[in-house]
Amino acid sequence: QFPTPIHQWNLPNLPEGTEVWIKRDDLSGMQLSGNKVRKLEFLLSDAVAQGADCVITVGGIQSNHCRATAVAAKYLNLDCYLILRTSKLLVDQDPGLVGNLLVERLLGAHIDLVSKEEYGKIGSVALADLLKKRLLEEGRKPYVIPVGGSNSLGTWGYIEAVRELEQQIQLSGDVQFDDIVVACGSGGTIAGLALGSKLSSLKAKVHAFSVCDDPEYFYDYVQGLIDGLQSGLDSHDIVSIQNAKGLGYAMNTAEELKFVKDIATATGIVLDPVYSGKGAYAMLKDMADNPSKWKGRKVLFVHTGGLLGLYDKVDQMSSLAGSWRRMDLEESVPRKDGTGKMF
Ligand SMILES: *Cc1c(COP(=O)(O)O)cnc(C)c1O
Repeated sequence: QFPTPIHQWNLPNLPEGTEVWIKRDDLSGMQLSGNKVRKLEFLLSDAVAQGADCVITVGGIQSNHCRATAVAAKYLNLDCYLILRTSKLLVDQDPGLVGNLLVERLLGAHIDLVSKEEYGKIGSVALADLLKKRLLEEGRKPYVIPVGGSNSLGTWGYIEAVRELEQQIQLSGDVQFDDIVVACGSGGTIAGLALGSKLSSLKAKVHAFSVCDDPEYFYDYVQGLIDGLQSGLDSHDIVSIQNAKGLGYAMNTAEELKFVKDIATATGIVLDPVYSGKGAYAMLKDMADNPSKWKGRKVLFVHTGGLLGLYDKVDQMSSLAGSWRRMDLEESVPRKDGTGKMF
């Protein structure tokens, strides 16, 4: 559902004169929501062009990328195979229907579970290759999409998003952004935004907050992606990457989850716990620690989606959630609408 909306985001405690706006890539669809659909537009086009009859991809147990891939693949009448990473304790059990898994399983995606240890030892590329080999032996035509859809082809998704943004700015006439802020997981989104911003009229500074690996890893990874597009640029010159990993990928402190809850209550924006929540948390912390760096700037935060991932955190969030009560019906209240309905 493009272009995704942009609006001002009235976050509390911003430095003097700083404005934060938000680009709602969480509204790029419902089942297809989030940033991955932008990459999949290019990747699945390639799959169809190559005559594939199924796709394989890889991710964590609550991967938004795997869910979006399953949806988009079915739209194109492609079968979908997902290799999902989970804990050693859960790898031999039914993974259940929480969050992204509900969508994937309703769509009939084929799910192979691997443990974190197996994943760490074998790696995503060899795991996908193994499944590809098995499907080829069955006479299928599989197309492999890398983790997060982050290869050079997928990077076009966010180069295209910058073009969309440029047009939105031209149409609205007033808003020019100094900075773009986004969470970073597999690296394709920041590679596209950084390259797009550099090559377009936008020239906004791109800030990435990494939620899994260290910044050095991502400078190298983004370098590979933009080298694959013959950009001739150095990743260090087009993006600034900071660590926002916290306890580790997809793991949250109580403080981070309270932040997600407080921002929802204060602004109506529901962030996801794994990416945009950690990204916004780290951005506001950086603004508080280094106000002179952000003072007076117009910042665009890209909300990359991931709402379904919150369902995996309900136990950890229950003590933070809003209040409720039994409605007081002590006084007698006469009915005002007609009877005869079921309730
Ligand atoms: C995958 C994902 C990201 C990170 O994007 P990458 O291109 O993998 O770096 C951010 N937010 C959400 C909700 C995601 O699912």
